[in-house]
Amino acid sequence: MNRTLTEVPRRLLLGSGPSIVPDRVLEALASPTIGHMDPAFAAIMSETIDLLREAFQTENLATLPISGTGSAGMEALVANFVDPGDRVVCGVHGLFGERMADELARAGADVVRVEAEWGRAIDTERLLAAARDGLDAMVVVHAETSTGVAQPLDGLADACREQDALLLIDCVTSLGGHPLRIDDWGVDAAFSGTQKCLNCPPGLAPFTAGDRALAKLDRREKPGRSWYFDLSLVLGYWSPKQAGGTARAYHHTAPINLIYALREALRIVVEDEPLEAAWERHRVAHHALRDALGVLGCTRLAPDGEQLHPLLGVTPPDGIDEAKVRTALLLEHDIEISGGLGPLTGKLWRVGVMGASARPEPQERLVGALCELLGATPDEPLAALAEGWRA
Ligand SMILES: *Cc1c(COP(=O)(O)O)cnc(C)c1O
Repeated sequence: MNRTLTEVPRRLLLGSGPSIVPDRVLEALASPTIGHMDPAFAAIMSETIDLLREAFQTENLATLPISGTGSAGMEALVANFVDPGDRVVCGVHGLFGERMADELARAGADVVRVEAEWGRAIDTERLLAAARDGLDAMVVVHAETSTGVAQPLDGLADACREQDALLLIDCVTSLGGHPLRIDDWGVDAAFSGTQKCLNCPPGLAPFTAGDRALAKLDRREKPGRSWYFDLSLVLGYWSPKQAGGTARAYHHTAPINLIYALREALRIVVEDEPLEAAWERHRVAHHALRDALGVLGCTRLAPDGEQLHPLLGVTPPDGIDEAKVRTALLLEHDIEISGGLGPLTGKLWRVGVMGASARPEPQERLVGALCELLGATPDEPLAALAEGWRA
């Protein structure tokens, strides 16, 4: 039978994720599949963990990629570190905070929501005030991808420690692209995703947990509700020493080829330039693109000081059909950007500034194509972009 199949197009991925996957990473993905208990794969796992610790800026032994997308990381976080009846302060200032609150409620937590308008960070004083009434955990989205806002964590770790509570964060879009220091900031556990600033295909959730979080796990009287995400079992597979054993025990079959890809993607993140330099590059790229799009009439949603460098959320120029422009961008120019979600549907463009896209060339392509679609001359926006990169 002759089936006609859709050819996979080559797109420039400048949306909210997945992001550009470099050829090096795609080639790693296509390496031969080997057995997941093969000693060579054990070595690859260890190397991946070492690189991941560097990216997270942590010494946590319990650092590993959870098998599943970023949302699996969220499930793992809640399944391991939130018990039914726990009082959990949850920051909600966008779609991912909403999702977290939903996940916590499903886990039987007593959820205390501390909200901010979509597009703003949450005043940390309000999170601290909610913590004063007692809590078992605080959960915040460090990088709110639905709006392009970075949430400050100042004082949150101390407040949690004072009450013997855990500080848990979603850093899906900050890992590798926005300043993030798990150990220095006293974060007890965190999860991320591979398809944002790490420039790896989706399918894994980098995860890290410190001693205070693991102690809570050890105190459990009966096993948690999730078998697949039970960290004590998963650690027996990834880091047997951490789980009190010596030999790696089969738990599930790791997505072998995705691990190869993640290892290669992490090498780019931590070896090609110092992590601080990568953060700075994202900052410069963010502002250069904001200035260029500003010439076209786009305004950033996040106010100064609250912006998330890897995700630029801007209002589209007045009087245009934003969805039509995005579709033309994709189908005529092979460039993907994302639209708004929830209350921001039709009101926001979300442009990824993630790893390989935090560079002048892809940004020039985007600005040039947008000018063509909007009937604008590209000179001024391109000059603003170049100026931003020089600054
Ligand atoms: C992308 C994202 C997720 C979910 O990741 P998936 O890979 O889509 O499951 C969670 N939180 C944030 C902040 C994200 O940006």
